[in-house]
Amino acid sequence: MPEILTNPSNFIQNEINDDIKNGRYGEGIHTRFPPEPNGYLHIGHAKSICLNFGLAEQYGGMCNLRFDDTNPVKEDVEYVDSIKADVKWLGFSWADRMYYASDYFGRLYEYAVQLIQAGKAYVDDSTAEEIRAMRGTLTEAGKESPYRNRSAAENMELFTRMKNGEFADGEKVLRARIDMAAANINMRDPVIYRIAHAAHHRTGDEWCIYPMYDFAHPLSDAIEGITHSICTLEFEDHRPLYDWLLEAVGLDVAARPRQIEFARLNLTNTVTSKRKLRQLVEEGYVAGWDDPRMPTISGLRRRGYTSAAIRAFCREVGVAKANSLVDVAMLEHCIRDDLNNNADRIMAVLRPLKVVITNYPEGQKEYMLAENHPFKGGHRYVPFTRELYIEQEDFMEEAPKKFFRLKPGGEVRLKHGYIIKCDEAVKDAEGNIIELHCSYDPDSKTGGETANRKVKGTIHWVSAEDALKAEVRLYDYLIETDEKGEVPADFLAAVNQSSLEVLHDARIEPSVRLTGEGTHYQFLRQGYYVVDKDSCPEQLVFNRVVGLKDSWAKAKKG
Ligand code: ATP
Ligand code: MG
Repeated sequence: MPEILTNPSNFIQNEINDDIKNGRYGEGIHTRFPPEPNGYLHIGHAKSICLNFGLAEQYGGMCNLRFDDTNPVKEDVEYVDSIKADVKWLGFSWADRMYYASDYFGRLYEYAVQLIQAGKAYVDDSTAEEIRAMRGTLTEAGKESPYRNRSAAENMELFTRMKNGEFADGEKVLRARIDMAAANINMRDPVIYRIAHAAHHRTGDEWCIYPMYDFAHPLSDAIEGITHSICTLEFEDHRPLYDWLLEAVGLDVAARPRQIEFARLNLTNTVTSKRKLRQLVEEGYVAGWDDPRMPTISGLRRRGYTSAAIRAFCREVGVAKANSLVDVAMLEHCIRDDLNNNADRIMAVLRPLKVVITNYPEGQKEYMLAENHPFKGGHRYVPFTRELYIEQEDFMEEAPKKFFRLKPGGEVRLKHGYIIKCDEAVKDAEGNIIELHCSYDPDSKTGGETANRKVKGTIHWVSAEDALKAEVRLYDYLIETDEKGEVPADFLAAVNQSSLEVLHDARIEPSVRLTGEGTHYQFLRQGYYVVDKDSCPEQLVFNRVVGLKDSWAKAKKG
């Protein structure tokens, strides 16, 4: 069972505690996570999922998964399936409580009829533009539609004909009859039903009128007996409408869901809008919804994020009543922390440079004992041979004084192995360094006479003959931003053209030969990596999850 997911005390818990104290909800708390299946979930949704399922768990209550599927044109079963998989992967269970707003289309229709009969809803023939024009502004009252005073009988007849498919899309709408002069624009006779001759992914062609989100959402919450309807701040101004609707259809005041708003998650360098993410996918900026550069749950998973790290992040950001921008470095800190504790260490050379140990016998091989993890322990053997690879950047021909890696005449320790000295940099006709000739100190490995001889640098390496060739994919932020990290309105123009770098010739120690998708490693001195789904024993493919440097922890320490 997942750990407690919310901060020890946040304002939502305070409100719930009050409700419990006052006995407002007799049977325990009941929350829901209500995604619209029109895209894949992203890191912002994870915050809402952790909050809703986390609160239910903490209070011994329940949390429903409900698909708010009121817009047939944009929704699809592909999204339903991905959302279910992502919520489960994050570690939560809705048990047998998976619902759809479309389950309630019949009841919602009845509620609409009830409103019409009570003179609280009317059919409007105005076009969308006319309705917009009559809406008024923040400072100016709206205008009443010429159709506002139709009789209940006429409205009923027209609404029935809407339902029967006698009108084209947009020809008529059903509006709540509230107050065109209300200060809150949401109360100015909002549209509650529209015509859409479109097949729905669940109800097929059964309906050609669909409830608007603002009508379906509060009523779905009430139908499911939700006690705390937790949503993001932009819905604060919709709350009076929701209350009006519940009252108007005669739902018991005491049993009504209580809406509590919190600030949505905004992350630096990160797009958190399904619409924009869909654009990145559909316009080919990324390879798909699960591209490892995407902030979708599936993208993060493929990138190598664990669900525990995402839950830890959501706990750490907490919930607040004011919008803010969270540094993406904090998310990176959470996965780094998890992998630091859990990922085995191996040696991998990303950009290989050949080293020949000239005094090491040809054909000889020995196995160096190497620890897998600094505190979890475990060991493996790493083959050592006359020819090795080291990282190109670990050698400098004209090195500054403080360069403690390999340089002509200099010494360095090979991790888990010998001390070597660089005798010669061999070059091709153009002057490019093609290999290094080095000599080793045979007594300098563990247990040897000079095992403790100090040299300033230690570098990683792999055996040229034994190492596995691998493809390694390095990622940078998908969106480039200003210093503050805010994503610009024209986010497509800010797409980072070099957010993906593919290294085709990396060499990895052979111990990883048969590891499969999702296995994490720390490549010593390089960062954390995960085996990608494209990987197979014949062609290893790794994604870089995150580097070793923790700018977040550093900043926090000050
Ligand atoms: P998007 O703008 O990305 O499409 P949305 O709110 O339209 O987001 P929904 O499918 O309606 O997407 O979201 C389901 C739930 O997730 C809602 O309750 C919503 O409040 C919450 N949610 C969406 N984005 C965020 C976010 N960035 N931070 C916190 N909660 C979010
Ligand atoms: Mg929404």
